[in-house]
Amino acid sequence: MADLFTERYRTVTDRPLVIAGPCSAESESQLLETASMLKRCGTDIFRAGIWKPRTKPGSFEGAGDKALPWLASVKQLYGFPVATEVAIPEHVEKALKYGVDILWIGARTSVNPFAVQEIAESLRGVHIPVFVKNPVNPDLELWIGAVERLKRCGIVETGAIHRGFSSFDNGIYRNMPYWSIPLEFRRRIGDVPLICDPSHMGGKRENIASLASFAVKLGFDGLMIESHCNPGKALSDASQQLHPDDLLKILAGLKPLLNDASDDVISGYRKDIDMIDGQILSLLSKRMDISGLIGSYKKDNSISVFQSERYETVIRERIALGESLNLNHDFIIKVMRLIHEESVRIQMEIVQK
Ligand code: PEP
Ligand code: MN
Repeated sequence: MADLFTERYRTVTDRPLVIAGPCSAESESQLLETASMLKRCGTDIFRAGIWKPRTKPGSFEGAGDKALPWLASVKQLYGFPVATEVAIPEHVEKALKYGVDILWIGARTSVNPFAVQEIAESLRGVHIPVFVKNPVNPDLELWIGAVERLKRCGIVETGAIHRGFSSFDNGIYRNMPYWSIPLEFRRRIGDVPLICDPSHMGGKRENIASLASFAVKLGFDGLMIESHCNPGKALSDASQQLHPDDLLKILAGLKPLLNDASDDVISGYRKDIDMIDGQILSLLSKRMDISGLIGSYKKDNSISVFQSERYETVIRERIALGESLNLNHDFIIKVMRLIHEESVRIQMEIVQK
């Protein structure tokens, strides 16, 4: 998409934009060493987190303000445009003061409209590209809303970063891709470049190559990949950061950009279906485990396995719930009958033992 501003930053043709760098800026030497290695990989934009939102207190929360001049040195010595995450207006002010070229709003911030609005207001009259990571929960409207808040405050160059969504059962990933959500994002607002972050999605080094190449096939405009000069020793997200040599191998293996990604769009939807089937089966297995516990309790307390009153209530409530979720009435009854039958079978097996 030649009209997108990301084209300005792209230094290698036939490949999407590459934003790479460590999860966190840890020291000046770590940043400069990583930057010198990434320069050889054809990285277009250098990223590093300065203020880190962490799930638990006590984890490394970023080097903070003192890392701003380190990032400025990366820019000066290696000529990279540099990017960092901002979560409050104070971060914006400091990042701008130190010449940061691109800002992004993280997943834990984009989830909060008040926080996004404050950041957007602090950017009024400033010309800088701002990327918005998808909110942690799979809520397309909230993601689009965050981008709209920036646009309404005059930010012309906005981008979206798909980093996956937190879910009850993330399977092999740290965050579920739900590819249909970024595809719908693109359908709704096609003029906003779409970047994939396979690092936070995959959570592990070995997941990154396949996620990155899938995103490219789906026609994403760029990739944001965490890379560290000594990934095993990284102070945050150590298991998902790549050594620049490994990043280079992944980038070299990416197929050239496709003009027509329509077949891959279907496979994007299919990947979601495969993943959701996995979640359904995993939830069914958890449900049956609980049936087993109930079976043991009934056995110990001489309670009969089948209780028609409970069965009637379950079916009635599930029909109401299912219909409110736009599921067909007969389909809900069929599915719930099958599940209940299996649950009774499991309990009978235990009681008869
Ligand atoms: C990051 O990019 O380092 C980060 C914290 O990502 P996210 O907001 O996607 O969790
Ligand atoms: Mn990270």
